[in-house]
Amino acid sequence: MLEIPNSQQLAEGLKMGFKCAICSKEENSLLKVNHVKLGVIKICEDCWSEEYNKGNLLSLKGGCDCCR
Ligand SMILES: [Zn+2]
Repeated sequence: MLEIPNSQQLAEGLKMGFKCAICSKEENSLLKVNHVKLGVIKICEDCWSEEYNKGNLLSLKGGCDCCR
């Protein structure tokens, strides 16, 4: 089961760098996704392809601003 971190844990998580929201792997290049169950989270590429294949990823609201 996934635990919901409190704000202090979140702040420490930010200080320590980036962790995948699913497997907790520390990763410099996390992908921001809109997960069907977890909401907007950052995950590593491994989890991304896994969740993508399961159809668990929704498109982020507003789409991509950077490549219009
Ligand atoms: Zn991961």
